[in-house]
Amino acid sequence: NVQVLLKNHVNGVPTESDFTIVTSSIQLQIPDDCRGGVLLKNLYLSCDPYMRIRMYGKQEPESYFEPFTPGSPIMGLGVSRVVLSSHPDFKKGDLVWGSTGWEEYTLSKSPETLYRILDTDVPLSYYTGILGMPGATAYFGFHDICSPKRGETVFISAASGAVGQLVGQFAKLLGCYVVGSAGTQEKVDLLKNKFSFDDAFNYKEEHDLNAALKRYFPDGIDIYFENVGGKMLDAVLLNMKRGGRISACGMISQYNRFEELEGVKNLFLFVSKEIRLEGFLVTTYFPQLQKFTDAVLPLIKEGKLAYVEDFSDGLETAPAALIGLFSGRNVGKQVVIVARE
Ligand code: NDP
Repeated sequence: NVQVLLKNHVNGVPTESDFTIVTSSIQLQIPDDCRGGVLLKNLYLSCDPYMRIRMYGKQEPESYFEPFTPGSPIMGLGVSRVVLSSHPDFKKGDLVWGSTGWEEYTLSKSPETLYRILDTDVPLSYYTGILGMPGATAYFGFHDICSPKRGETVFISAASGAVGQLVGQFAKLLGCYVVGSAGTQEKVDLLKNKFSFDDAFNYKEEHDLNAALKRYFPDGIDIYFENVGGKMLDAVLLNMKRGGRISACGMISQYNRFEELEGVKNLFLFVSKEIRLEGFLVTTYFPQLQKFTDAVLPLIKEGKLAYVEDFSDGLETAPAALIGLFSGRNVGKQVVIVARE
């Protein structure tokens, strides 16, 4: 069983040397003390920014992100096939998505964190993205948190990623004016040509983010879907309309500097512009996953939603793929292929 282990807890920017790849033997059986568990063969693993937060050793009070244990496989989300089951809800051969380890085979002791895949007319890897956790994040984080209305102006940061590309398309389907920011010209082109954003810009080429936002939103922003935090949030606050809404989905620019978070200067604008900011965790919405699947699956099949994935082939490529999220190496949803069947 090839496994990707975290070697040590990490402060600052993670590197591949913080991980180690090991091979161990595994008995393909469910031990007596794991009754109720299932044995999974992992097919696709998901690289997600929150995993960086779990690499810190210290658990912040109130934090939802439990630290990884050095010497143990990285835990995350993935698509797997059930090889053996001692749980009444799963049988051999079932396809599932949900919590699993960065290894070829995982003994899951808590199958309540697994969701059966019933529709296989779409690529299976979609259950790491558009039909999995990032898709639900975009769906509920936009529709429930932002209270969007037709004709409103929407700005999305990290817009070409797993979550952002969907938020923009949901907003377009609703008749909003949508602009996104991303870190390369290739991503900007994707936003405009593949995901039907009205406009997009490369934030790395703008020395004045406030001026850039004024160019795209001369009358201001109604809705900001926040994925990056830091300087971008400060610039957005200067451009929000009175009564605007901000969905605080994530702040990836801060994940490698949790010891010293960047301050936000323009906080008073929340008061004077009556801006509503609301944070959320997608897991709160997991009881409503069926509603999300029922809405999104038909849109995919009717060709009304596009989705771009970035595949990294083989477990041994997983550390670099995860680290790559923090330099923008990924173009679209970052997936690691472990096995195709
Ligand atoms: P992405 O697929 O968007 O990958 C991350 C992207 O972030 C990179 O490709 C890069 O794109 C951009 N980025 C990295 N570092 C920086 C930086 N310092 N400043 C600006 N941009 C940066 O990831 P996801 O779509 O999966 O996640 C997007 C956000 O959503 C994250 O903040 C994540 O934590 C959050 N999230 C929150 C959830 C919740 O429950 N609240 C659930 C899932 C995700 P670029 O080239 O454009 O810089």
